[in-house]
Amino acid sequence: MTEPTIFHKILSNEIPAAVVYEDDEVLAFKDIHPKATTHLLFIPKHFIASIADVTPETAHLPGMLILKAQKFAAEQGIAGYKLTFHVGEGGGQEVMYLHLHFLSEETLKAGK
Ligand code: AMP
Repeated sequence: MTEPTIFHKILSNEIPAAVVYEDDEVLAFKDIHPKATTHLLFIPKHFIASIADVTPETAHLPGMLILKAQKFAAEQGIAGYKLTFHVGEGGGQEVMYLHLHFLSEETLKAGK
């Protein structure tokens, strides 16, 4: 078994995170080093390491993350945002747990 990543530890509450959304399939929290006014990370509760590891069995996961981000943005009244997957070390991926970056210059509603 591979070493648990920092995102495994956030999911299991071993380390804290500023969670903005959670359901049975996904957790979303604020990036600790934000590169935009709003910088969130959406992770699936089912672990895969990277887009590079997606198989036909797990191909729904990236789309699921995009749908959750889209719904969250609509609920927050955020109209413009960027969604990014970093893939592999050469693609800037530091944490080997699939995550979708959500970046916007718009702000979350109060309390988020
Ligand atoms: P990536 O470079 O795509 O692997 O992105 C990993 C992201 O995780 C970076 O933007 C980091 O700032 C962020 N990050 C690392 N540790 C934490 C943490 N404990 N809580 C929230 N975000 C984190």
